[in-house]
Amino acid sequence: MPGGYLGKILVVDLTQGQWEVEPLREEHASRFLGGGGLACRYLYDLISPSTDPLGPDNILFFTTGPLVGTRAPSCGRYTACFLSPLTGIWGESNAGGFFGPEMRFAGYDGILIRGRSPEPVYLWINDGKVEVRPASHLWGLDTYRVQEAIKEEIGEPRARIACIGLAGEKLVKMAAIINDNARAAARGGPGAVMGSKNLKAIAVKGSGTIPLYNEAAFNEVAREARDWVREDFTAQLFHSGGTAFWMDLGHEFGDVPIKYFTKGYFEGTGKLSGATMAETILVKTSACYGCPIACGRVIEVKEGQYKLPVTEGPEYETLCSLGTLLMVDNLAAVSYANYLCNSLGLDTISVGVTIAFAYYLFDRGVVSEREVGFALKWGDPEGALRLIELISRKEGFGAILAEGVRSVGERFGLPEEAAHVKGLEVPMHEPRAFFGSALAYATSPRGACHMQGDPYAVDSGSAIPEIGIIPGDRFSVEEKAWMVARIQDWRALYNSMIMCQFCSPGPERIAKLLREATGWDIGIEELVKIGRDIFDLKRAFNVKMGVKRQDDHLPSLLLRPLPDGGAQGAVPDMEKLLADYYAVRDWTEEGTLKPERLRELGLA
Ligand code: SF4
Repeated sequence: MPGGYLGKILVVDLTQGQWEVEPLREEHASRFLGGGGLACRYLYDLISPSTDPLGPDNILFFTTGPLVGTRAPSCGRYTACFLSPLTGIWGESNAGGFFGPEMRFAGYDGILIRGRSPEPVYLWINDGKVEVRPASHLWGLDTYRVQEAIKEEIGEPRARIACIGLAGEKLVKMAAIINDNARAAARGGPGAVMGSKNLKAIAVKGSGTIPLYNEAAFNEVAREARDWVREDFTAQLFHSGGTAFWMDLGHEFGDVPIKYFTKGYFEGTGKLSGATMAETILVKTSACYGCPIACGRVIEVKEGQYKLPVTEGPEYETLCSLGTLLMVDNLAAVSYANYLCNSLGLDTISVGVTIAFAYYLFDRGVVSEREVGFALKWGDPEGALRLIELISRKEGFGAILAEGVRSVGERFGLPEEAAHVKGLEVPMHEPRAFFGSALAYATSPRGACHMQGDPYAVDSGSAIPEIGIIPGDRFSVEEKAWMVARIQDWRALYNSMIMCQFCSPGPERIAKLLREATGWDIGIEELVKIGRDIFDLKRAFNVKMGVKRQDDHLPSLLLRPLPDGGAQGAVPDMEKLLADYYAVRDWTEEGTLKPERLRELGLA
C-alpha cells in the first residue's frame, strides 16, 4: 500500500449487525485518490438504477483521502457518498471538523455502511475495535444532545461523532449528517440515508498516525504550504469575515440570490455581512483540523426573541438561504434558524430554498394560509422558523416541503419555478451573475452545486494560472465551457484529497504534497488528469442512473432577467454553453461518455 493510506476499509452490515475489514482497493485509490472519487468508483459497482436510496441496498460510504489527518493545511475533511434520495443520482457531501482525521487515526481510510438495522443503533469505533450499540434511547435526541450523550455513555469526551437529528430519523430528503458540534455534510440527503439504516451516530477515537512515503519531505512541504496559505489574501478574507465576507462583495456582482431568485438588490445584505457579525454577535473564530484559515464563526445572541447560547454561527450560504432569499435582514433570526437546522439535522441551503419557494407560492396566491397553517410574509422570519420545525417532523405543510423544491414544484404544477437542477436546490450564487455558475450548476455531478466547481470565484478574480485558469468576462459565453470544465476537474481533485476549497497552496505544492505522501510520480499534469477522470467517473455513474442531456437544465425561473442589481438584465445562452461544454469534455451530444472513454476509466 502506498504512503498516505491505511489500506483498510471498515465494512459494516447493519442488517446482520456485523462488520469486517476489507483491504482498500489500491487500483481505485491510485486512480481516483480518495473522498468522492474513490467512493464513486466503489459505488459504481455497488449501486444500480433499481437501488432504493432509502432501502437497505443503498450504501453510505464515509471516505477520507491521502492528505486527511496529515500536516497538510486544511485537510480535515471526510466525505459521505451515497445514492441521493433527494435527486436519485450521485450523492456526495463533505464536512470539516475533526471526524475525518479521527477515522484515520482509528485505522480506516473509509467506513462503508450497508443494510438496515432492525433497531436504532450507533457505531463506536475505538482504535480498530468496533461495536454496534443500541440507540433506541438516543432516538429523537437533537444533534447537540446526542453527541454529548454518546460521549458520556462511552466515557470518551474526546471522541468525534457524526450523527443525525430528527430530520434524518424521519427520512426528510434534505436531512444532513452533523459532526463535531455543528459541521454538516448536508447536501443531497445523507442524513436521510443514515436514518433509513436506523443508524443514529458513529463515534470514533483513534491514536494512530498516517504512514507517509517521505515524512520529513512531506512535513517540510506541508509547512511551506501552511505559510503560503496564511499569507494568501483570499484566505485572510475568510479568516477575518468568515464565508460571509462574500456578502458585500457578492451583492455588488449581483451574486447574492434575493427574494427567491427574483431580485438582484436588497438593502438588508449589509445587516447580514461578515463585518456586521464581527461587530455584533461574534465571540471568536474556529478552525477545522489543521486549518490555518479558521473561517468558522462562534457566536452568541445574548438577548431577545432569538437568544442563543455560544454556538457555531451561520455561513454565507445560510445567511442567504434563510436570510436574503426570504428578504429577512435580522442576523439574530437567521442565526437562530441556522441553529435550529443544525440541531434538527437539516441542509440549510435546500431547506431555505424550499421555504423561499413556499413564500413565493404564498405571495402569488398558489397556496393559502389555510394550506400552510399561517401566513408567509417576505421579510418575516417567523413563518420560516415554524416551517423548519414542521419539515423536520414531516407534519402539516412541512410534509410537502420535506420532499424538496422539485417535488413542491411538481405538486403545484409549476416545475419551471422550482429552483433546482436534477432535484438539488440551487445554492447561493446567482447563475445570472456569473454565466460560468449557470453551466456549472447544469452539469455538476450532484445537481445544482457550488462545491464541485466554483466559476464565480474564478471570474471574480481567483486565478490558478499554473493550470490555465484565469478570470474572464463573467457575462461572456466564449471560452466559458473550457474554464468551467477545468475548475470542475480541479474541485473534483480537491474533494478527493480531501482539501478544503478555501485553501489554495497552489498546484505545484499540492503535487509535492501528494508525491511525498504517496511516493507516486505526480506533477501538475497528473493532478489535472486525476481531476478529469474523477469528474467523468461521476458523470458515468449518473448516466448509469439515467441522466441525459435534458437533465442538464436550469429552470425558467433562473433564466429570466433580474430587474435590478449587479446582474440586471443578464441571461446566459445555455444551449451554446452546453454544446461547447460537451465538446470540451468530449462527451456525446447526449451528454454521455463515449465507449472508449468508459474503457479507459475501467468502467466497460
Ligand atoms: S477554511 Fe474553514 S471550512 Fe475550510 S478547513 Fe478551514 S475552518 Fe474548515
